[in-house]
Amino acid sequence: MVILLRPDQEKIKDSNNRKILHLLMKKREMSKQAIARETGLTVPTVTNNINRLIEEGIVEEAGVSVSTGGRKPMIIRFLPQSRYAFGVDFSSNHLTSSSCIRVILIDFDAVIKQEVDFDYQDFDNIDEIMKHVQVLTEKIIKNLRISVERILGIGFSLPGTVNERKKVLELAPNLSPNLGMKDLHFKKYESLFPFPLFVENEANAAALAELILGIARQKRNLVYLSLNRGIGAGIVVRGHIYKGNKKRAGEVGHMTVDSRGISCTCGRKDCWEIYAASGALIREYNRESGIKIKDTKEFLEKLDNGDPIAVKSWDIYLNYLVRGINNIILAFDPHYLIIGGEISEFGERLLKPLRSRIFKENTYYKKDDLEILISGFKENASMIGVALLPFQKLFYGDNKII
Ligand SMILES: [Zn+2]
Repeated sequence: MVILLRPDQEKIKDSNNRKILHLLMKKREMSKQAIARETGLTVPTVTNNINRLIEEGIVEEAGVSVSTGGRKPMIIRFLPQSRYAFGVDFSSNHLTSSSCIRVILIDFDAVIKQEVDFDYQDFDNIDEIMKHVQVLTEKIIKNLRISVERILGIGFSLPGTVNERKKVLELAPNLSPNLGMKDLHFKKYESLFPFPLFVENEANAAALAELILGIARQKRNLVYLSLNRGIGAGIVVRGHIYKGNKKRAGEVGHMTVDSRGISCTCGRKDCWEIYAASGALIREYNRESGIKIKDTKEFLEKLDNGDPIAVKSWDIYLNYLVRGINNIILAFDPHYLIIGGEISEFGERLLKPLRSRIFKENTYYKKDDLEILISGFKENASMIGVALLPFQKLFYGDNKII
């Protein structure tokens, strides 16, 4: 007999389930009694939920624990490889290549089980690329011998304005022309996959990864700054991704920061990303030196070798970067400002001067008021973030976008 629960009862049941799942994920193995103690739920409630999780294959009974006197309690073990999700990064800006799409499969622990990438310039259009992604996911599933039922979905990390509900990439001036820059509808690709499809802006996805698994698990206000070929920000307000009225919040790359009259891909002039995206650094160096370096990796080598033109270009770049970051801090007053993307590869060479310049002559902020950090996920942040989207309902309740 199926017992239908009222919606509020269903909600409580889901929330209890999540509590138990979170705890088991952290502790890996526990007795039902210990779970009840730590969650504040009754043992019968815990037992009901555990039975459901066992049925779903997410946890298992793992024998009895060593005697603590009396009846030996049954140990429940979390199974990280009971569910999987795919993440696909369209916005990938590897240090060596900027035209690459990456596909990963992660398990419940967000551990990458397999990663493949391909050059999207080999394809004529987005339909072909999506078909190729489909083929790759099938290969990965076959290769790892995973049953499709265990895969909860596929998430796409996209550069630009993303309507995650309608599954549309509305505007992406930095995307390659053969991918299309406007109104890319992903709903039509849902039929390619036997599991749900999700889309999100790359900086928002990266912010989500930091919020769920990374630096921002405790403090809930942060700005994730993605410094790639373009600049985007993922804004988290009290644990929610803030996207605003038309999903455009965080398009900080197009704040005006100068008056030199340099045109931007968006059609306006003197946007921040003209001066502070990764390409700006390379352009500045190439112009001053007369040498043609290709990427930030080459630039980093020059900087490490003490090349005076690299040192000067870096200084100019940092000043522009600080200009925009100060605006962001004033607008959002976050606990954390997390730097990700290509430029985050500079590590301490970036953080040290950034910290000292940001707080220099700053009336509103002191050093202890916020932490400026490099993303722990590095170039994988947005890809892991979108791969977490299929897990979100099970683990974190309804969508956390405001
Ligand atoms: Zn612009």
